[in-house]
Amino acid sequence: MNILILGGGGREHALAWAIRQNPKCDRLIVAPGNAGIANVAECADLNILSRAEVLEFAQENAIDFVVIGPEAPLAAGVSDALRDAGFLVFGPSQAAAQLEASKAFTKEICDACGAPTAAWARFTDAASARDYVTAQGAPIVVKADGLAAGKGVTVAETVDQAHQAIDAIFDGEFGEMSVVIEEFMAGEEASFFILCDGTDCLPIGTAQDHKRVGDGDTGPNTGGMGAYSPAPILTEALQQQVMAQIVRPTVAEMAARGMPFQGVLYAGLMIRDGRARLVEYNVRFGDPECQVLMMRLGAQVLDLLLACAEGRLAETAVNWADDHALTVVMAANGYPGQYEKGCIIKGLDNLCESSFQMTFHAGTASQDGAIIATGGRVLACTGRGATLAEAHQRAYAQVDAIDWPGGFCRRDIGWRAL
Ligand code: ATP
Repeated sequence: MNILILGGGGREHALAWAIRQNPKCDRLIVAPGNAGIANVAECADLNILSRAEVLEFAQENAIDFVVIGPEAPLAAGVSDALRDAGFLVFGPSQAAAQLEASKAFTKEICDACGAPTAAWARFTDAASARDYVTAQGAPIVVKADGLAAGKGVTVAETVDQAHQAIDAIFDGEFGEMSVVIEEFMAGEEASFFILCDGTDCLPIGTAQDHKRVGDGDTGPNTGGMGAYSPAPILTEALQQQVMAQIVRPTVAEMAARGMPFQGVLYAGLMIRDGRARLVEYNVRFGDPECQVLMMRLGAQVLDLLLACAEGRLAETAVNWADDHALTVVMAANGYPGQYEKGCIIKGLDNLCESSFQMTFHAGTASQDGAIIATGGRVLACTGRGATLAEAHQRAYAQVDAIDWPGGFCRRDIGWRAL
């Protein structure tokens, strides 16, 4: 079959790498792709936020299956346009993608189906939001209600900080927004990934990531500096609790509202005293969590995504190996602040790539035969093994073989589980 993946980050490289290994895949195109993706698929220059452009491309190239990687095309309704035209698509509708795009929407769904999450309130003006925070006290969490690329959330330790965050949101820092104020939940965070076909659900793995830029989980937040799977804290019993109390009720509530969720539901969870509560949903794979999941699932990913898109999850199972994966993100010096672009990365040709170690590309391009860094997060060195320690060793062996003075990484990915 002819498959089109939308996106061009480490997540899409990992998806393409896994899908390419499945014999059902004849032709694989990734738009826009990157220099690493070009080794496993054709790359196409396409505006993936334009419904018309994506649709025309899919028609011209006789695409049989479209996999949507990032949230932006989902929020733009690209999946709806493709489905309306008869294409088989992996990724939720624009309406169902509100589970990520709107925090208030998700909170309403949780309230309606009884899913455990932080207490919350929504405000459309600064004065009432400030009064509410003053009454509640700190710590408290202030969120811009919309897609703010992970930058719209302030975990405020004082009422003053919360007031400042409210003012910034109403001053228009993220465009026109309302604000959601949440109870602060203490605990350990973990991610749980579940395929949903509108009715049935199939868990496909757990992971934990490292959001802070520096060793010891210090410094500013980033898009993610590394991840590992499985997450030891998400025990089998806890996964069953999350499925029964959070995921299945959400999927049933979405279906009852006429917006069945079809795609991957990425549940961000806060765990404390053996109980999990929902922090947020994302409606696509995480980056870099996708890299560790794909590494563990391998070629069967295509069968799983097809079963999801075709509504066959009730009769589908994951073929689990008893393994672990860990990924280390290499970023450009300066990230997540101002960083340099265009530095040459050497040593990539010497890396041995296998089902146990892969360096996925996020922000790279080729220029005159060399690979250059074009983004903040640039590479994800990923290892798999029988133990987390083995996966860790394989991931860092790749890091150490890469010659890139313009880049850096954390040296302690997985410390909590190791
Ligand atoms: P991202 O998609 O980058 O994770 P986001 O903008 O969608 O971010 P959230 O996931 O809702 O925002 O929040 C970001 C982070 O803030 C969470 O991963 C968590 O660490 C923290 N956080 C959010 N809500 C709460 C809460 N109620 N209690 C404690 N911490 C929270």
